[in-house]
Amino acid sequence: MKQAVLHAPLDLKVEDADVPALESGDVLLRVESALVCGTDVRIFEGRKKRNVTYPTVMGHEFSATVVDSAGVLPDGVSEGALVCVYPLLPCGECVACTRDHPNICRNRVAFGYQLAGGFSQYVRVPAAAVRAGNLVPVGTASPGAGALVEPLACAYNGQRLASAAGAPSMLVSGCGPLGLMHIRLARQLGVQRIAAVDPIEQRRAAAATSGAELTLAPGEDAARQVLDWTGGAGVDVLVMAVGRTDALHPYLGVLAPGARVSVFAGFSGEGTALEIPANDIHYNEWTVVGASSCRLDDFQQVAGLVRSGALQVDDLVGAQLPIDEAVGAIELAASGRDMRVGIAPWA
Ligand SMILES: [Zn+2]
Ligand SMILES: [Zn+2]
Repeated sequence: MKQAVLHAPLDLKVEDADVPALESGDVLLRVESALVCGTDVRIFEGRKKRNVTYPTVMGHEFSATVVDSAGVLPDGVSEGALVCVYPLLPCGECVACTRDHPNICRNRVAFGYQLAGGFSQYVRVPAAAVRAGNLVPVGTASPGAGALVEPLACAYNGQRLASAAGAPSMLVSGCGPLGLMHIRLARQLGVQRIAAVDPIEQRRAAAATSGAELTLAPGEDAARQVLDWTGGAGVDVLVMAVGRTDALHPYLGVLAPGARVSVFAGFSGEGTALEIPANDIHYNEWTVVGASSCRLDDFQQVAGLVRSGALQVDDLVGAQLPIDEAVGAIELAASGRDMRVGIAPWA
């Protein structure tokens, strides 16, 4: 089989390997769709090193068909079924795990990191992950939609932490695929009105079809327009769906009392300090929340929305390049010119 192996930053090779052998309780998956995350771009470029070991088969957003098992499959998972894979295996014992934040477990292992991930034709799911419930069926959803469950669940985690459900208004800053996922989820979660900011016109158009009623380009007048749009009340939830501080700072002046700021995107490099005046937080009772990956229950929740068709995301799947062009797929994802770019392992 073929797999894309990252040996060091910028050193990704597509190699032949044996189909993984199964040990007791393991499951073998045939990968159908593997997507390139912004995090994968940062790992490839060497801008993210945390939790990364070499060599590694990247890919933590994928869907796959169950083709073999060396034990009993979990309830609801059958051979031939399309599943998505919750990528994390938390330790269950560290401080994060015992404080109900298993998704930021410091000892976790994850597909695409310590465990071979989806940039491959086959993936072995170790027995521990099978037992933990990491295989989640997606019914008749498309392979691309199945693979999108992971990033959608990350957005869901962010919105849960920001208490977005039912909020009167939300501003999504950054309308790449993740920003668009936030908009669609927010509608599912009953956010009443959504605005979105992005410099690229095409992305603003996609934000509008995703459910944003106000879309605008960043600029001198943007914050005032957002404030006017809320009738002077201010924005209740601000989601930073792009890792740039200048995507947050202009909108601090138009947050409502009690607003939540979700620092959703990952940052790299210099200039990553957010500047929020302490008294603004104090007098306005704002909450600033992070968001990293997702919990298994977020993942199951979102898989249910995709499975039932309540959440339509097929149009968020961009070009799917053959695995031999894995580097090209990462570069295309990095360019920001497409929706969620992926790797078609069998093309
Ligand atoms: Zn991701
Ligand atoms: Zn842990």
